[in-house]
Amino acid sequence: MNIHEYQAKEVLKGYGVRIQEGIVASSPEEAHEAAVKLNAQTGTSWFVIKAQIHAGGRGKGEVKETGSRGVVLAKKLEDVKEKCAAILGGTLVTIQTGAEGKKVNKVLIAEDVYYPGASEPKEYYMSILLDRATGSNVIMASTEGGMDIEEVAEHHPEKIIKEWIDPKVGLQGFQARKVAFKLGLTGTAHKEMVKFIGSLYAAYVGTDSSQFEINPVLKTSDDKILAVDAKVNVDDNALYRQPKLAELRDLAEEDPLEVEAGESGLNYVKLDGNVGCMVNGAGLAMATMDMIKLSGGEPANFLDVGGGANATTVEAGFRIILKDPNVKAILINVFGGIVRCDRIANGVVEAYKSIGDIRVPIIVRLQGTNAAEGAKIIDDSGLKVFSAITLKEAAERVKAAL
Ligand code: GDP
Ligand code: MN
Repeated sequence: MNIHEYQAKEVLKGYGVRIQEGIVASSPEEAHEAAVKLNAQTGTSWFVIKAQIHAGGRGKGEVKETGSRGVVLAKKLEDVKEKCAAILGGTLVTIQTGAEGKKVNKVLIAEDVYYPGASEPKEYYMSILLDRATGSNVIMASTEGGMDIEEVAEHHPEKIIKEWIDPKVGLQGFQARKVAFKLGLTGTAHKEMVKFIGSLYAAYVGTDSSQFEINPVLKTSDDKILAVDAKVNVDDNALYRQPKLAELRDLAEEDPLEVEAGESGLNYVKLDGNVGCMVNGAGLAMATMDMIKLSGGEPANFLDVGGGANATTVEAGFRIILKDPNVKAILINVFGGIVRCDRIANGVVEAYKSIGDIRVPIIVRLQGTNAAEGAKIIDDSGLKVFSAITLKEAAERVKAAL
């Protein structure tokens, strides 16, 4: 699960990570008030306005309707309102959103932290993630912060520092010092970075996250180290024990059909094809999608109804698939192991009748316990539902339906 930058920064702050302070706002008026408050809190008179969407590259991204960037600087309090109005409610297109972009519902009004001083502010890159190959966490850091890290990884892999952390032992002091040293830091900035890494790692573990990306981490002109941006990805499987984080979920950022499927306990991922499919088990779902391609179609979705499929789950699955206007046929491919084929067949017929207006042909392949009984129920139903026993038959039925 992803959360917004403003939420991630609050979470990090709770673990003692120094952040660029800010206040979130949903309207230009609120943004103005936020700037006034921020000025009172931090003394800043320059304000950074940052679109809050679940995608990076905002600084270089553009709001379709107004041409504004997704991150802009206001050097006067009076400019905040107008600059926010050019972002809020607009569609921000960045390298990560795709051409359709994402609607901006909130902006973060943040203090300017690039002020001049004894030294130049400098941007670093830092991430923490799970390295499955070694079964440990890894801290990645680079002096090439603020820019596209994939580019750095490709052309200058030597500029990416990696430090592996054994999760049983945790981050050791020498490891944080090693990273700070390799980033070329000395004196106060070195000490600050060591502290920053320690708090960041504690936050990573404490929030059950699978990925943190802080780009940039900033060394200010007076040698403070702070998070200017924060991308936090929390492991979905841990949300049951992270109720406070679970509340930060923003459904507006997610595909509505995927949200609806999640509520019905279905594993659904929308794809671009024309054949909807409903399957029990992820392996069978993959095989079914291959089969759809072999028969000349393209899968419209991945949908795993799970082991305990019944009339209710089948109906929920149907409704979700049918909301996709690209769907020309639906293939149901269920293996009757735990659940008997005749029960699934009855579930399909019941769901079909309950939904009523289904305009696309439905091909049902039931295999396993009571397969023949299941096929008979389908064939005798009098509905526009076709049964198939073998995969080959099912493929031919799909082909004929397209
Ligand atoms: P992203 O483009 O979505 O990754 O958004 P970031 O939060 O990383 O911000 C993009 C860029 O905005 C940063 O790399 C900085 O160059 C700039 N920026 C962020 N905060 C400040 C600030 O306080 N002052 C100034 N002058 N620039 C800032
Ligand atoms: Mn960034």
